[in-house]
Amino acid sequence: MSNFEIIDCHIHPAIDKKTDFRWYHKSGGVKKQFDDLKRAGITKACGSLVVRNPASFKEIKQLNDAALSIRDRYPGFYIPGIQIHPNFPDESCREIERCCIGHGVRWIGELVGYLMGFTDDYASKNMFQILKIVPKFKAVVNFHCADLNVVERVCKRFPEINFVLAHPWEGEVFLSRIKTVAKFDNLYLDCSGTGIDRYGMLRKAVEIAGRKKLLFGSDYPINNPAVYVHGALFEKLSERFYRDFFSGNFKKLLGT
Ligand SMILES: [Zn+2]
Repeated sequence: MSNFEIIDCHIHPAIDKKTDFRWYHKSGGVKKQFDDLKRAGITKACGSLVVRNPASFKEIKQLNDAALSIRDRYPGFYIPGIQIHPNFPDESCREIERCCIGHGVRWIGELVGYLMGFTDDYASKNMFQILKIVPKFKAVVNFHCADLNVVERVCKRFPEINFVLAHPWEGEVFLSRIKTVAKFDNLYLDCSGTGIDRYGMLRKAVEIAGRKKLLFGSDYPINNPAVYVHGALFEKLSERFYRDFFSGNFKKLLGT
């Protein structure tokens, strides 16, 4: 076990069958999930609840209410992330205001379009309407996007928003993604999902984008969080890197 403070910026708490994306077993209660994360050496975790193809904005709001309620029960451990949806731009704007002003939320996402029914639709008119109000609340946007043209358009259009791209992926795709991260001051990468198992990925990421642009994330409960903690440590990078990667960069983005 490491002595580093480790903040997992990319989890999806599960509260029922619809929000539980663990593959082979049920995730169990929230306490059990957080005990799992702690057992992997994680000291805090951030992220949103997700469902497949929500039918209404009410359903999305319920996810956000659940995130806020989990934060109230585990204030020292869980940092809530909220969901919005480009099919509901006005409702999404009001929801950002409600959660950011009323409840001190600073993290939007991970937004997962392919799951929630809007694919890589981050550069649309509706999404731009929503993103336009984000700088007012200094919130960070964590998003899943395979299309780097879309990523570039969003970063260019909103230089005052800090975006965290989810997942390195591998090979040429990873190299293009990390080069895009290096290109934009307001774009970061979280290491969740595919990537860490390709030995040397983190070292390469630091070489290309620098240690200030990378954040620790696991995508728990889909993924085994210990794989990410240990996989990162096994690359034997500098103490300074691990302090930034595991917690420093996240805290800086949140202004804490
Ligand atoms: Zn995710």
